[in-house]
Amino acid sequence: MENTELTLLEMIGSVYEDLDTDKIEERFVELVNDRFHFDRVALFFLKHRKEVLQGKLSRGFAPGMIENTVIPIKTDSTIVRPLITGIPARICTDDPGQSERLLGLANSVLVPIVNKKRIPCWEIKNCNQPGCPAYGKKWLRCWLVPETRCSGEAAASLAEKAGQCSTCPIFATFNMDAIEGVLVADNSISNRPITEDTITLISVIGHTVGMAINNSKIYMKTLDVAIRDSLTSLHNRRYFNERLLDEVERARRYGDSLSLIMCDIDHFKRINDTYGHPVGDEVLCWVAETLRKGLRKTDVISRYGGEEFAVLLSNAGRDQAFAIAEKLRRSIEECPFVHRESPIAVTLSFGISTFGVDSRKFEGLIESADKALYKAKAQGRNRVCTP
Ligand code: GH3
Ligand code: MG
Ligand code: MG
Repeated sequence: MENTELTLLEMIGSVYEDLDTDKIEERFVELVNDRFHFDRVALFFLKHRKEVLQGKLSRGFAPGMIENTVIPIKTDSTIVRPLITGIPARICTDDPGQSERLLGLANSVLVPIVNKKRIPCWEIKNCNQPGCPAYGKKWLRCWLVPETRCSGEAAASLAEKAGQCSTCPIFATFNMDAIEGVLVADNSISNRPITEDTITLISVIGHTVGMAINNSKIYMKTLDVAIRDSLTSLHNRRYFNERLLDEVERARRYGDSLSLIMCDIDHFKRINDTYGHPVGDEVLCWVAETLRKGLRKTDVISRYGGEEFAVLLSNAGRDQAFAIAEKLRRSIEECPFVHRESPIAVTLSFGISTFGVDSRKFEGLIESADKALYKAKAQGRNRVCTP
């Protein structure tokens, strides 16, 4: 028992140490593998609107084998059963399905990774049996414990219990939204038995991991929302400024080239006045998308203000930045925005500044690009200028 408690504590501690989903998953697989000495371990996640199970991580399987495996949920494989019932399933030699055969699974256990708080079984059933190992526990469920009273037989196997439990109200409260994926713990090579206690323990750990993954996803989403503009999904000004500060520092230290593009929609007020604000919003999104398509993934592009965008080009000198801005300008001019089957002429004016040419400072670079943009407006708009 001491060993069990240690495993649980270690697991819970290590998954909550990290808020990165990938790291939580890695640790989970590692720990299950190290602690329980399975021949092989694999982790599958639900993907594509929960229509398929996609392999993600593994230990002991041939390289790429799990990572390249996609199993549709609609198959009758044992591997999808925990997703539908929310309870662990065993794979035995006598009933391997197609997916199990492909992965060579003949003596394995499949544990669902549940990501939501489950209502305790004793609450749902309103049972009052303090002698039951699941009674009063937040994590345990009667179907996870070999010797629970509600299962009837003390030694009932999980398979038997699944059968007995199918009329239980706990099943009615289960739905697939609460499932993140499945852990496959396999002993098909050594054929060592997998005990019911081990299944219980991995299930409880799997639930903790599922909750941690869910928390991590919410956290990552919150972080992303904080650095993006809600209309165009481009980065926001705050993020852009932070990155520009970093890049200026890098350019100073390592002598890398760095340029800045500021651009602004020409006569945007007219578009709003003529077609209304909602169409103006659509134009903003279209411009954002066109700029995004014309730039590299590594370029930082942001909505800097209302109808003003800023682009950070690392490793680009003045000539390169000018060419990029000119390409963007043309892409907007030549591919008009279409509203109710009529084109609306949209153009942008661009200002450029370059590190070491216009300034070596954050403020200086912004000011110079702004000045260049003003010049482009003053010279008739729809053009690229340097300060
Ligand atoms: P210029 O060529 O000199 O840049 O002229 P302009 O009309 O584009 O510039 P001005 O600064 O006069 O007007 C900008 C307009 O952008 C006014 C403002 O209502 C509009 N705007 C700012 N943010 C948004 C937005 O989120 N949605 C919409 N639809 N309009 C916006
Ligand atoms: Mg404008
Ligand atoms: Mg403006």
